[in-house]
Amino acid sequence: MNAQQITLVSYGHFEKEILRIISDKVFAVYGLPVNMEETHFDLSNFYDPNRRQYDGNKLLKNTDDHSIGNIKTIALFNVDIFIPILTYIFGQAYLNGNSGVVSAYRLKNELYGLKPNKFILIERLAKVIIHELGHTFGLKHCYNNDCVMKSTNYVEDIDQKNAVFCSACKEEYSLGIQKKLFMENNGEITSNT
Ligand SMILES: [Zn+2]
Ligand SMILES: [Zn+2]
Repeated sequence: MNAQQITLVSYGHFEKEILRIISDKVFAVYGLPVNMEETHFDLSNFYDPNRRQYDGNKLLKNTDDHSIGNIKTIALFNVDIFIPILTYIFGQAYLNGNSGVVSAYRLKNELYGLKPNKFILIERLAKVIIHELGHTFGLKHCYNNDCVMKSTNYVEDIDQKNAVFCSACKEEYSLGIQKKLFMENNGEITSNT
């Protein structure tokens, strides 16, 4: 069985340098191989003309339909994404699943009338990607203000937290990975004693 990997798939244009720095940050947290792919895809089927945004649930399902085996896939978009109960989302993912989606749209300073800043964009994008990946590894929201798994509603909230796990989330992630490796090497754990 192949070992666990992470793939970041960018839909549309993302600067190579930005993606490379982000993949290093993702690797620093997860310690797993991070692949990068770029794809071009007609997103019109995912556009909601009433909300003038893109449907986050459909995009997530589409990403999941294309995901494979032991690879956690995060799809990156430049378009504005919503889900029915929220005005917008930075990203979402299947808890304990294989897939997530992330949008850079609301992470850019320009949207808030500020000067573009590549450094800030990289930090924000990395945090959202690392957060959504955490959900795919079974981590839920954390109440530690510094932790990357803290839930965020506004871009300012993202700036307040770190791009890494708190010690509790780090331990939970490590235990999950160890358990998975154990099961791969020994078969499913059974309750026979
Ligand atoms: Zn979350
Ligand atoms: Zn935490």
